[in-house]
This record gives sequence, structure tokens and C-alpha cells, in this order.
Amino acid sequence: MFGGEVPARCDVAIIGAGFAGVATGAALAARGIEAILLERAAELGAFASGRGAGLGRQLAEDDVTAALAVRGAGLLRTHHPGAWSPTGGILTFDEPAHGRAYIARAARLGVAHEVLDRAGVLQRWPDLVGLRIASALYVPGDGVIDIRALLHALAAPLRIAFDTAVELVEPAGPGVRIATARGVIEARVVVDASGAWAGALTGDPGLDVYRRHLYVLEAAAQAGAPYLWHLGREEMYVRREGDGILVSPCDSTPTEPGEQPCDETGDLTLHDRLATAQRLLRAPITRRWACQRAFTPDRTMRLGIDPRRPWLVWAAALGGHGATCSLAVGETVADAVVRALG
Ligand SMILES: Cc1cc2nc3c(=O)[nH]c(=O)nc-3n(C[C@H](O)[C@H](O)[C@H](O)COP(=O)(O)OP(=O)(O)OC[C@H]3O[C@@H](n4cnc5c(N)ncnc54)[C@H](O)[C@@H]3O)c2cc1C
Repeated sequence: MFGGEVPARCDVAIIGAGFAGVATGAALAARGIEAILLERAAELGAFASGRGAGLGRQLAEDDVTAALAVRGAGLLRTHHPGAWSPTGGILTFDEPAHGRAYIARAARLGVAHEVLDRAGVLQRWPDLVGLRIASALYVPGDGVIDIRALLHALAAPLRIAFDTAVELVEPAGPGVRIATARGVIEARVVVDASGAWAGALTGDPGLDVYRRHLYVLEAAAQAGAPYLWHLGREEMYVRREGDGILVSPCDSTPTEPGEQPCDETGDLTLHDRLATAQRLLRAPITRRWACQRAFTPDRTMRLGIDPRRPWLVWAAALGGHGATCSLAVGETVADAVVRALG
């Protein structure tokens, strides 16, 4: 971390110090390359990376993202065991075919899993008796990520300039000129890891950004309960959070990048999702917040060297799995930066 003017020159500048930025910085450091991170906010985790639910779910919605999540979870277990709780995870479905698609994905990616019946699910989460459960999977290798601990561990050895908004990025010779609120930097390569803002500085199409709410309820979960993510029409997830329960009603409202205030959509959707879970519905809400998830139109992450601009590398569109995939994203992007440096 440093104050004052940014340096006039560097090999690699990374815009954004969320999971995409700090994981890339850490993976570059492991390859002997020091990057400078430029972060507009005054602290780590001001946006998605500090405000997620921390579910370490490996079986994402498509094979490419799931493969990154499997790799990311493996790296987390090995290199950051203090930020990973091996709780396991339950995925439930209200369409049998949907459940079968996830079982097939688990088999393709070699993810250990057990098929659960409805009773097996309710044994762990008895409050959720109203869930439509046509099929369910238990994934023992899933877990819960301490997102704050992970962000800080990754960021600790890095050079991060906070309060440093990047205002302009333009090609300069074989490299790139980056104008910031605290001076101009010439770099050989810039990494766009600016989360929901990715593309804004380079004139590229913006991402699709959606607001989602999270709640902490004053209600005890069973000791050792795995997280549960219902992947049905009435999507929702729950996990233990200290003495309480963290819930997301999985609302997804199109929005613009920025601060995401809580709105009534979150409360209404929560009420709807918990309609048959009377104990949870009545439990006091001790915290509520909202934040943004950012996607490309086809929902694949935007990672790697830009095809038209060799000085630009993407670490963007981490969507709803950016914490789980963070270390795999960092490795992938760092390899691309090494290639871009030549
Ligand atoms: C409600 C919610 C729940 C989630 N739950 C999970 C989950 O359970 N499991 C999981 O794996 N993932 C989850 N995610 C997804 C995960 O949090 C994101 O995929 C990940 O944090 C995205 O990281 P990022 O670095 O791309 O973006 P961000 O964390 O948003 O970081 C981007 C950074 O770039 C900075 N920036 C932007 N523009 C500029 C500029 N011009 N100059 C300087 N800095 C700039 C911003 O200030 C910001 O700090 C969740 C997300 C949300 C919102």
C-alpha cells in the first residue's frame, strides 16, 4: 500500500482492487512481476468483493465457469485454508432434468457429490420444508469463504494506491498511458479489473449489471449445516453466519454500476421466498445490504489479452462466482500478462 503520487512508469498496472485485481496481483507476484494496483475507493472490498455471500460453490451454471470454480476452490483449500470453511454445499432443484444436468456436470468435472432425497435436505435445513425439491445434490468439497480475510491476505504484499481513480487509458507507443487522480503512469500492460465498470475506460461495451440483496437473520442454523442453494424458479440460498443465518432471495434487478441501495424488491422477494419458512420469516433482520454482480451477455468471464490491443488484459465479468474463482482467475490472467509482456 502506498500514498502520494503514483510512479511515472511500471510494467503492469491493474485497475481495481477487488478479487479480480488482487488475485491477479498476487499471481503476478508469484511469477516475480510486481504490479501497481489503482483503486478508486478508500479501502478494499468497497464493492462486490467485500459484499458477497462467500459461498464456495463449484458447480456453477456452465462448464467453463464451473471448471474455474473447481480450480479456484482447490487453490483456496491449499493456499488459504484459514479463509475456507469446509462446510460442503447442497444444491436443490425443482425440475428433475435440471438436477440431472448438474449431476452430469459434476461427473464431467470430477466433482465428488452425493444425490440427496428431500428428507436428506430437510434434515439439514428443516425450516425449508416449503421448497419444491425434485432433486438435490450434496457436494462435500464445497465450502464457505471468509471474503474479508481472503481479500486482505491477497492484498497484504501488494502495492495498492487507494483513492486513485483511473480517468483515462490510451495507447502510448507499444504500451499504455494511464491518467489517474494522482498522476499519470506509463505501463507496458494494463489489466482492466474494474468490476461492474469494466470496459468504461477503453470504450468497450459495458457489462450487464444486476443488484442483489443479502440478509442476516437472527435465527440459529444447525451446527455444521452445509450451505443450501435452491436453483429452482424461486432461487434462494442460505448459510450459517455466526449465530445467525445469511439469506439471499436471489433477486436480480438490472442496474447501473455504483453504490446499490437496498430497495423494496429485496424485502418483497425475501418475504416471498421464506413464505413457508415461518421461523425464518419471523426472525429479526440484523443486517441487510445490496450489491452488484456484473456479467457479459453470454455470462462467460472476460479474461485474457484483448484481441485488438496487446497492451490490454481483461480480468472482468466475474458474475456471481468471483470469490470462488478468484485464485483461478488470478492465475489465468497473470499467465496472459506474462504473454503480453513478451
Ligand atoms: C450480493 C452478492 C453475492 C455474491 N455471492 C457470491 C458467492 O456466494 N460466491 C462467489 O464466489 N461470489 C459471489 N459473488 C460474486 C463476487 O462477489 C464477484 O464476482 C467478485 O467480487 C467480483 O470481483 P471484481 O474484482 O471483478 O469486482 P469488484 O469487487 O467490484 O472490484 C472492482 C473494483 O474496481 C474499482 N474501480 C472501478 N472503476 C475504477 C476506476 N476507474 N479507477 C480505479 N478503480 C476502479 C472499484 O472501486 C472496485 O473496488 C457475489 C456478489 C454479490 C454482489
